[in-house]
Amino acid sequence: MINLDSKITDISRVGKVGAKLLKKLGLENIQDLLFYLPFRYDDFSSLSKIADLNAGQTVNIRGEVQLIQNKRSFKRRLNITEALISDESDSIKVIWFNQPFIAKNIKVGDLVSLAGRVSESQGQLTMNSPQYEKVYSNELIHTQGLIANYHLTEGLSQKQLRYFIRQVIQLSDIVEEWLPTNIIKRFELLNLKDALKKIHFPKNLTDAETARQRLAFSELFLRQLKSQMIKKELSSQKAITIKFQEQATREFVSNLPFQLTDDQKKTAWEILKDIEKPRPMSRLIEGDVGSGKTIVAIMAMLNVALNKKRSALMAPTEILAEQHFRSLNQLFKGLNISVELMTGSKRNKDAGKSDIIVGTHALIQKGADFKDLALAIVDEQHRFGVNQRQKILDFNKQDNVVPHFLSLTATPIPRSLALAIYGDLDLSIIKEMPKGRKKIITKLVKEGERKKAYNFIRQQIKLGRQAFVICPLIEDSDQLETKSVKAEYEKLTTDIFSDLNIGLLHGKMKSIDKEAVMKDFLEKKIDILVSTSVIEVGVDIKNASVMLIEGAERFGLAQLHQFRGRVGRSEHQSYCLLFTSKEEITNEKTIDRLKAMEKYSDGFMLAKIDLKLRGAGEIYGDTQSGFPELQIASLFDYELIKKSADEAAEIIKADPNLKAHPLLKIKLGEWEKLIHLE
Ligand code: ADP
Ligand code: MG
Repeated sequence: MINLDSKITDISRVGKVGAKLLKKLGLENIQDLLFYLPFRYDDFSSLSKIADLNAGQTVNIRGEVQLIQNKRSFKRRLNITEALISDESDSIKVIWFNQPFIAKNIKVGDLVSLAGRVSESQGQLTMNSPQYEKVYSNELIHTQGLIANYHLTEGLSQKQLRYFIRQVIQLSDIVEEWLPTNIIKRFELLNLKDALKKIHFPKNLTDAETARQRLAFSELFLRQLKSQMIKKELSSQKAITIKFQEQATREFVSNLPFQLTDDQKKTAWEILKDIEKPRPMSRLIEGDVGSGKTIVAIMAMLNVALNKKRSALMAPTEILAEQHFRSLNQLFKGLNISVELMTGSKRNKDAGKSDIIVGTHALIQKGADFKDLALAIVDEQHRFGVNQRQKILDFNKQDNVVPHFLSLTATPIPRSLALAIYGDLDLSIIKEMPKGRKKIITKLVKEGERKKAYNFIRQQIKLGRQAFVICPLIEDSDQLETKSVKAEYEKLTTDIFSDLNIGLLHGKMKSIDKEAVMKDFLEKKIDILVSTSVIEVGVDIKNASVMLIEGAERFGLAQLHQFRGRVGRSEHQSYCLLFTSKEEITNEKTIDRLKAMEKYSDGFMLAKIDLKLRGAGEIYGDTQSGFPELQIASLFDYELIKKSADEAAEIIKADPNLKAHPLLKIKLGEWEKLIHLE
């Protein structure tokens, strides 16, 4: 008998290979699989007649296989499977690449259901690489209705994953409901088992949405429970008092190469007042990309060091940690404040002895010596999540003394929403941009204007500026018609900009190499940096003035906004050029989304537009908008956020350790583990 704890290999056709791939996604048993939620749906709910098809449509057709054969294309080193499918109205040519086994699975005379996009080549309509399944009965799970799409890992297909989930979906019936019944009733939420069934195999959009609402509520509720628990715990704890060193702070500020904005001053003041108290500070600085959050955090660290106490600064990437390390060293020159760096690959000899420790996750994982730690700062905190916070609070817990906590985020949300979602944090908002910043000029560029764009980059470099080129992939892929950094780097170095210095950067490079490249770019030894999304957050190269993004449609608008924020960080007029992968330039929705980038420079506005334009069945979670902690809820589930916050606060007030809610407690533990995997 298969039950919820059964191993994933008990499912038909998973096998050893499948199990290994699923494990990469964190899926080891049946329950994991049931809770692995889709992020969008393909809408194949209306069956089309072949005679009615138009290029550019995404459709579902059904017909008989008239012909199917494999061919080799030696020039492109591809195997091509060609088929002719006809229904009562007409027939259409269908092509798959490098999947020769399809010709074995489907035979002439079979009735098949196909789903995908119609394209046109040389005046003829075709379907390229559609989803397919044979029609045995009326139950189609891949090509008819609303079809769930999941985040995958290489080697695993949507079809396989869907097939696995289909086999166990009925086991949702024995998943225990853990949300308190009164909450379910009051908010008219779906129960858990129905929500699971409907999120994976919805009959219609209403199914999908009600299921999503329930699961989003659960997710937000757990998050809120956790933050309420932290808040409760903190209220009984003490912190080291840091006396405001007014004279030294004034001097430090007057030596900066710029004047602080009023918002920066106000925020710094709020922090410096907070840390003077013997109660732990919990504060969030929210300010859009480039608003200058770092310097405010640095002023706090300065005061801590002058009090002979220590602070830690954690960043989500090594590149960013290195950058902070460099700028702290520079800013504190001559002040006799020691700074050390601790990342996955790097750790000073004297680990843990310095006044300031800068690092990545490694800070928490490696458990440095955090004696006398008075202040913990997390940059880009939305990348870490609420659990990391718990760990940080445990850094230096002696006699109920915890570090003051400061987090920085560019998640562009209004105050009311921020207060609801970060119920346990005090909020400082930096709205005002530093003086002299110019609006970044953004343009969606057609393929035909590529040469012009390159010439423009060349001009900028002649003026002494530098440029970024972002590509979605590291290496070229057969399946995706989008650019890879490696191929693009090749092209730019050998062909387009052979006289300039081009750098290459991606996540799979060794840390030491990444660091060298960033350093060269900073020192202007590199003119153009070709990079993946590793530079998405935080990176600060003041001299860069062009951000060119390839395959821009593959990124969320909030993400594009982050990329764009890598330029325009000084008085130089800066530019953002967006290119799409080939086919997408004809897709209206894509164009509308990217056009919004031309028009708006406000991150929150962009996130909102993104949500609207992605439309029904398309947005699940805010992974794309740089809020990985929410898998299924979105920042725009405002009502759900408020409700879940109220409920969580009430429960924790009455029952801080969840004694009366054992199931809830277990679930909270599981959720923490899940988030931790990210
Ligand atoms: P973010 O808020 O995105 O983290 P940073 O703190 O990295 O932004 O600041 C962006 C850039 O602006 C940095 O190069 C920083 O030195 C500079 N900067 C910060 N504050 C000011 C200011 N008041 N005037 C001019 N430049 C500033
Ligand atoms: Mg920053």
